[in-house]
Amino acid sequence: MPRVYNFSAGPATLPEEVLLQAQEELLNWHGLGMSIMEVGHRTNPYEELSAQVIATTREVLKVPDNYQVLYLANSSRAHFAMVPMNLLRGKTQADYLHTGIWSKMALDEAKRYCQVNIVASGENLGFNSVPEPANWRLEPDAAYVHYTPNETISGVEFHTLPEVGEIPLVADMTSSIMSQPIDISRFGLIYAGTQKNMGIAGLSLVIVRKDLLGQVLPFTPTMYDYQVHSDNNSLYNTPASFAVYITGLMLAWIKRQGGLTAMAELNQSKARKLYHCIDNSKLYSNSVDLNYRSRISVPFFLHNKGLEAKFLAEARAIGLVALKGHRTLGGIRACMYNAMPELGVDKLIEFMQQFEKANS
Ligand SMILES: *Cc1c(COP(=O)(O)O)cnc(C)c1O
Repeated sequence: MPRVYNFSAGPATLPEEVLLQAQEELLNWHGLGMSIMEVGHRTNPYEELSAQVIATTREVLKVPDNYQVLYLANSSRAHFAMVPMNLLRGKTQADYLHTGIWSKMALDEAKRYCQVNIVASGENLGFNSVPEPANWRLEPDAAYVHYTPNETISGVEFHTLPEVGEIPLVADMTSSIMSQPIDISRFGLIYAGTQKNMGIAGLSLVIVRKDLLGQVLPFTPTMYDYQVHSDNNSLYNTPASFAVYITGLMLAWIKRQGGLTAMAELNQSKARKLYHCIDNSKLYSNSVDLNYRSRISVPFFLHNKGLEAKFLAEARAIGLVALKGHRTLGGIRACMYNAMPELGVDKLIEFMQQFEKANS
């Protein structure tokens, strides 16, 4: 079976170069006669790898000096609790933008620890858009404002940063991290699982402004205290070493492509082509507000729902896989993270056009 074009929402496709390098180094990493998975995390080679991955992350994302970069062995969802535990800092309320399933899950978890103010909700807009910022209700005494820059399931993406004044802005960037350059200084904290744009499952990246650390809720488990991980250079517990290693390979790959500017161009180009195909067809549709359409995760529907299974089967047969929409929405979804080459999207579009012709 040749390699397929994998449009999975996550864990997601990886560049072939990255997989081949991992394969080549699998039995003998760094001339040690063993794999990276077998190396102790308190050894020099591992500590060097860890420090290098953190340094390269800082370089690629242009992280300012007053921010800490952490790699933690957990999933994005752990941060739904860690964020309030660490960032309430004596306050009792936090602001949340409710724009879809992921932000809802984050705010529901936060309710266990504080009063959650819904700044704005996309519910009345069918989560196909975001209410006008002029109508947002920001709470001046909120400890932070949390939002989800890319709602991966419904394909709703913010194309500008929310204006929240002095209150720290917190973002779940799991599906959009490293997909374009960002101004880190506008954020209080960013978290992201690495399994979509920058590696594999089991690891998350945190970028946090240092002055926000050190004031956790009293019952916070040690493992959920960002300060502990910061004090220990992300080596407090046994790290997810293989995942850290793969993220290191991904970072090197991103740099070889031309860094985040090149990623932004690639992701923009793939998205423009796919939406053009959808918008110029009589069979496919995407109902997201044009101002909030995601560059990364594109859900679309077939007007004739009866053709969906056939669409998926024929796509799979020519190596275009994992296009089934999220179980809550149905339809089709194409996720086009950093590692999805433009050629994969070209093939998808070609298939979509042929399928439409054959079934009209
Ligand atoms: C995929 C995704 C998650 C879930 O990540 P886990 O690693 O399963 O916790 C959370 N938030 C967003 C925006 C996602 O796209």
